[in-house]
Amino acid sequence: MLILNKTIMKIFKYSYRTNIRALFLCTISFISLFQTTEIWSQKPYEGKVILAVFAHPDDESTVSPILAKYVREGAKVHLVIVTDGRYGTNDYHDHEAGETLVATRKEEMKCAAEKLGVVLTHLDYHDQLRAGEGYDGHMPQAWEMIKELYGIIDKVQPDVLITWGPDGGTTHMDHRLVGASVTQVFLSKDWDKPMSLFFYGTPSENIDNAENKILRGQSSTYLRTKISYSQEDLEKAYSSIQCHYSQMNPDMTQEDYEKGKTSNGMFVYLRKFEGPTKDSNSVFE
Ligand SMILES: [Zn+2]
Repeated sequence: MLILNKTIMKIFKYSYRTNIRALFLCTISFISLFQTTEIWSQKPYEGKVILAVFAHPDDESTVSPILAKYVREGAKVHLVIVTDGRYGTNDYHDHEAGETLVATRKEEMKCAAEKLGVVLTHLDYHDQLRAGEGYDGHMPQAWEMIKELYGIIDKVQPDVLITWGPDGGTTHMDHRLVGASVTQVFLSKDWDKPMSLFFYGTPSENIDNAENKILRGQSSTYLRTKISYSQEDLEKAYSSIQCHYSQMNPDMTQEDYEKGKTSNGMFVYLRKFEGPTKDSNSVFE
């Protein structure tokens, strides 16, 4: 009986030690698993909201690496594309301007937004905002757009707005008007939630052509928000631009894209809107 008891005790001690060891090993593996996965890794901008507003499907590609970056870092990124891009014909494809191209670009834009991980709102404004129809055709579109953007900003309540500056990146009138409209909404009242407004810009020193420096270049004195991004973000941006097939040179390789995008470094430049901090009674103060 004594021998039997001793044997039972031995088995118990052995299995107890084994269990403790197994528990210890499990805990270590569990911790290392978490440390090497996204679950454990810090996402510094969790809870932050960015709203980017651009004119045409594919305009987002100007800032797409940083949209991918902020999604990766935990921010919720909304993207508003204002127009339907019906006039987006080019030398690479034989698409005709009009409704078929609108449908194609809608799908392309959906695909690009998915690749970037952003929440897309694609509005249905006519490409060029009916500029060809003169004041009476264009102005109702412009008014409606400002009011609709107001509603979106009011609903989304972003921490950060990103849009076109006065150069519109390419000087396209839709780009400049979309940027001006977002700015108008931003300025239209003292929003309860503090919001920062940023304009995309190109440093003049990154532009070779003298005329283009004037048309769309900006002094680095103003483009003080210089955001770096990773190779992973750049690859996401490439996979999203590929969705805009109707606008792309089909011969462009990933290497071509990456070279073009990063010829002046892996940065996106933004100009932060800065308002006055005090009242004044003179233009010279
Ligand atoms: Zn555009």
